[in-house]
Amino acid sequence: MPAPLDRSASWPYDAAGEPGPYAYARDEQPNAVAVEEKLGSLEGGRSLLFPAGMAAVTGAVLTMLPPGGSIAVAEGAYYGHTVLFEHLRPWGINAVEFDQTGPPPAKADLILIEAPSNPMLTLPDFEAAAAHAAPVICDATLASPFRLRPLDLGCDVALHSATKVLAGHDDLLAGVITVSDDGLFDRLHRTRHLTGLVASADTAWLLERGLETAEVRIERMEASARVLAERLAAHPAVVTTRYPGFGFVVAFDVADGAAARRVETATETIVNATSLGSTHTKLESRHRWEGDRCPEGLLRLSVGLENPEMLWGDLEQALVRA
Ligand SMILES: *Cc1c(COP(=O)(O)O)cnc(C)c1O
Repeated sequence: MPAPLDRSASWPYDAAGEPGPYAYARDEQPNAVAVEEKLGSLEGGRSLLFPAGMAAVTGAVLTMLPPGGSIAVAEGAYYGHTVLFEHLRPWGINAVEFDQTGPPPAKADLILIEAPSNPMLTLPDFEAAAAHAAPVICDATLASPFRLRPLDLGCDVALHSATKVLAGHDDLLAGVITVSDDGLFDRLHRTRHLTGLVASADTAWLLERGLETAEVRIERMEASARVLAERLAAHPAVVTTRYPGFGFVVAFDVADGAAARRVETATETIVNATSLGSTHTKLESRHRWEGDRCPEGLLRLSVGLENPEMLWGDLEQALVRA
């Protein structure tokens, strides 16, 4: 059961005038601590909750990248990371993209890989990343800790947008970072405390509730995604299908941008919207956001909990327009 919801921003000191376990919610908060314990045991480390996936990335980079340093970012990975680092370039953050299926650039001070990358669905070379001298952050949002544990694969930080499948119901924003090194944990915690990148009690409570069903949701979504990926790959209107063999996200290309727009607007039960990992199946063209770093005809399908035969019927009737 989720911990009882406690929305307090501060708690009274004890009779001797000393702070108890909780004093001020920017430092620690019981619902966040409860969900962090569950996330930490899933991931095999100690977790810190953030108010969004991007807040988690910001907290990690501010803590781990030396001023003027260079961060190597997986090419074809989550678009927001690259946009954030470009925005922060005037603060001395230099981002370089690299092909994560090979080794990271030699002179990187921090490495951000993604497993699998969103939306290109490549997997990193974990051995090459771990062999590099720089610390490695792995964004494993699309895999979830039920399919891949970055800390076991030599990464220093496992990162998730908990907005997606961990919460699972499209009703909150959250991020999580998990590490095994206590010194790094303390530095990250201090950054979070001082910057106020803190999730609300309601967010933590809802995320804890969502986690109770995460594993069964992923099993169902993945089983349907496998079937749909196979059928999409055999469909005459589909040029390329990307599916890493696990998980609930499939990316497929139709002929061009106009065809992608016709398909995404022709679905009936599949929702034409951004984001992924929720109970409802979603489809969207990524070129609208990402421009030329993403093929014009690429459609990202996040498979939900609906009946897979019904989903295939919907895709088939939409693909007639391709
Ligand atoms: C959505 C997403 C993010 C950003 O997370 P928010 O919760 O939207 O801030 C980061 N990485 C990946 C892979 C994502 O899909």
